[in-house]
Amino acid sequence: NWDLILYVNLELVNKMSNRRFIVKDMLGQGTFGQVVKCWDTETNDYVAVKLNQKFDPDDKHNIVRMLDYLSFQNHLCIAFEMLGQNLYELLKRNQLRGLKVKYVRAFSKQILDAMVVMRDAGIIHCDLKPENILLAPSVATAAAVKVIDFGSACLEGKTVYSYIQSRYYRSPEVLLGYPYTTAIDMWSFGCIVAELFIGLPLFPGASEYDVLQRMMTILGGQPPDDLLREAKDTGRFFKHVGSIFPGSEAPDGIPSAYRFLSEEEIETRESKRPKVGKWYFPRLKLDRLIYNYPWNNSELTETEETDRLALVDFLKGLLEFDPNKRWSPVQA
Ligand code: ATP
Ligand code: MG
Ligand code: MG
Repeated sequence: NWDLILYVNLELVNKMSNRRFIVKDMLGQGTFGQVVKCWDTETNDYVAVKLNQKFDPDDKHNIVRMLDYLSFQNHLCIAFEMLGQNLYELLKRNQLRGLKVKYVRAFSKQILDAMVVMRDAGIIHCDLKPENILLAPSVATAAAVKVIDFGSACLEGKTVYSYIQSRYYRSPEVLLGYPYTTAIDMWSFGCIVAELFIGLPLFPGASEYDVLQRMMTILGGQPPDDLLREAKDTGRFFKHVGSIFPGSEAPDGIPSAYRFLSEEEIETRESKRPKVGKWYFPRLKLDRLIYNYPWNNSELTETEETDRLALVDFLKGLLEFDPNKRWSPVQA
């Protein structure tokens, strides 16, 4: 049917028609792809078949490959290419001491490559974390990684859920209940890059309050007033102290109409006591944390010093409270 070929992928239609389904008509356009009316030669009945667009068709951008899928006893089973350990397992293998900047840089580049493809397609992954980045069989001597687990992904502008992202990697806008974009993945990516270097999560908060408090301590400052004014859950974390007046400055010295709640204040507000984590990580400012980090390298050589300064600069572009100012994958 040549008319139809104008609308759907020719190769796909040929393959489908050669097998079980004969394409008869175009039914509509869905969010992720087109739906065609087909004659099922096995059941001798009409069916609606959805054709999903394939991203990264030539396997060049560090995204896991789907090989096949089948339905088995009411379970949808998806076959993926076999990959290796995830990055959390890799860090554990290294006694959680972190990786040298050169590996952090190599992995970051590859993850960003995948993020450019996702960004162009308007796909928000919504669950980027070390467990969802896997080592791939390496090309030559270089280590390679791939992004997996698109089980929580959604399209930009068609977001549905507000409770997304794993807590340590959750962006300020998601914590505060502000409309989100692909920029939330860049926040998670920033957390991952820092974790690859230090070996431990950057914001291992025991509660959302604790995560936000850690962000503000390590990064300095707080989310911008515009965001706080419009986000629906600001009141869970901040007190509106009215118009800007002396003494209401945020931690970075920028005047703000909002003040972060104290631990005592939040205890009386939330019915369930928010856990505040006292454990394991010194709450240093980001630059000192990275620059003085003692575990993953014995000597602070000149190259290492330059590398670490560049890493701090890179992280500051990613861990930007304002999603509009945060770097895009192409910028990064
Ligand atoms: P989560 O609850 O973290 O969202 P999930 O149930 O959606 O997880 P995945 O993240 O897809 O599932 O897979 C869980 C784990 O299984 C991964 O962290 C990884 O260690 C392993 N795994 C997944 N896909 C592969 C693969 N293609 N090759 C090797 N291991 C894999
Ligand atoms: Mg997962
Ligand atoms: Mg998942």
